[in-house]
Amino acid sequence: MVGKQDIRVRIAPSPTGHLHLGTVRTALYNYLFAQKEHGTFILRVEDTDQGRSLPIYENEILDGLRALGLTWQEGPDVGGPYGPYRQTERTQIYKTYIEKLLTERKAYYCFCTKEDLEKQREAMLVEGIAPKYAGTCRSLSAQQVQEKLAAGASSVIRLLVSDGVEVSFDDVIRGSISVMSNTIGDMVIAKNVNTPLFHLANVVDDYEMKISHVIRGEDHISNTPKQILIQQALGFPRVRYAHIPLVLTPDRKKMSKRSLETSFVEYLHDGYLPEALLNFLALLGWAPEDGSELLTLPEMVERFSLKRIQKSGAAFNIDKLDWFNAQYIKKLSFAELVQRLTPFVPPEWLLQNNHLMEHAINLERERIKKLSDFVEGAGFLFSLGEYETSLLVWKGSTLAQASAHLAKIRELLDSIEPSNFTATYLESVIMPYAQQVGRGEVLWPLRVALSGKQNSPGPFDILAALGKEESLRRIDIGVAKVAGELSLS
Ligand code: GLU
Repeated sequence: MVGKQDIRVRIAPSPTGHLHLGTVRTALYNYLFAQKEHGTFILRVEDTDQGRSLPIYENEILDGLRALGLTWQEGPDVGGPYGPYRQTERTQIYKTYIEKLLTERKAYYCFCTKEDLEKQREAMLVEGIAPKYAGTCRSLSAQQVQEKLAAGASSVIRLLVSDGVEVSFDDVIRGSISVMSNTIGDMVIAKNVNTPLFHLANVVDDYEMKISHVIRGEDHISNTPKQILIQQALGFPRVRYAHIPLVLTPDRKKMSKRSLETSFVEYLHDGYLPEALLNFLALLGWAPEDGSELLTLPEMVERFSLKRIQKSGAAFNIDKLDWFNAQYIKKLSFAELVQRLTPFVPPEWLLQNNHLMEHAINLERERIKKLSDFVEGAGFLFSLGEYETSLLVWKGSTLAQASAHLAKIRELLDSIEPSNFTATYLESVIMPYAQQVGRGEVLWPLRVALSGKQNSPGPFDILAALGKEESLRRIDIGVAKVAGELSLS
């Protein structure tokens, strides 16, 4: 057993695409575990797939995780005692281990061509056995191998996997898992001594970096027995595994490319707050014992345990994410919200009229789910859009009545000092009239004339936000629209 001080975990992203929510969630669980156990969180870049790995993705992934506060103590940017932390810079280390396996005859060169392999496969299928490598090149002598290599024959390096070996491990989340080596066969571990493949590099790094727990997505669960075989061949001690559940759609189907695979940056562009995303992701497969939902990162650390990660798939529910986001938006101070909204709103909203922006924020902060909803919700305050004249008519009423009520309200408003344009005062002036002739009859056309919209905040708040001059101008537009319409009929 490893002591508490020896807890070392890692996130090992492959920089072959954008930062996805799945990677964020895995990084988060590793981070929480490390913090909780006073261990070390490491970031390792798994870029052995050089054809698909790009520095631009590496930057995006590291920047994204860092911005979320998931800071690592060792990594390619900060260094550490077991570096380098980028696999393409570790070729010599892998080479030593590959050569060791070759020397000890635990791995061997294989020269089978694609066609050879295809034939083997077909023959096995005919015999009714699950296809795997037939072991043809196992018996090549050292001399035969040297001759073929010297002649430039194309080759790979395979791990020798004996049949009939039971590979078992005790997963912290999923319990005991067992696989027979027969189903694995002699797997390819490197293209050549300088080009390791994923499993070998991953296992060597976990050993060299003294990783104690591998916490990763369940999509890797079938890789684990293969990696254990490599560990055993190299004489490495076993790490502890914790495979976290897959993310499912709300109706519990496997998640499609959308949503979880959508890049983290896209969620930010869509107006989700990083802290809301983090909170939502934390609860996607884990729940604290006290059932609390809104949690800051330190609060998650305090409550975290690997044992409380669920076994079954976790349903991704966008409504739940919206709920979290709305809660976090409500919690922001006015100044913070302005700052967060800045990239989303037309620049003139910020310059033009601070007073209006203040009202807009006060009116919308309880209504919006995403920062991007703000422009749609508050846009009418900054400019009145086109609307159908008929929208002014309260149900069962008429254009003429709508116009008459608007004219009456205009009269009432005209006598009020601009400095008295507060929602409470305006309400006290207009409500007696509305109560007398019917609330809907009066308040509906007023609200529509002010907003041009079917749905909006209430008319008194809008009046206060727009101020006297603009309010009267919009009421006049409403009245003129009705007059135009009536003169046509
Ligand atoms: N590079 C692997 C991935 O991105 C990580 C595998 C692991 O965590 O062991 O899926």
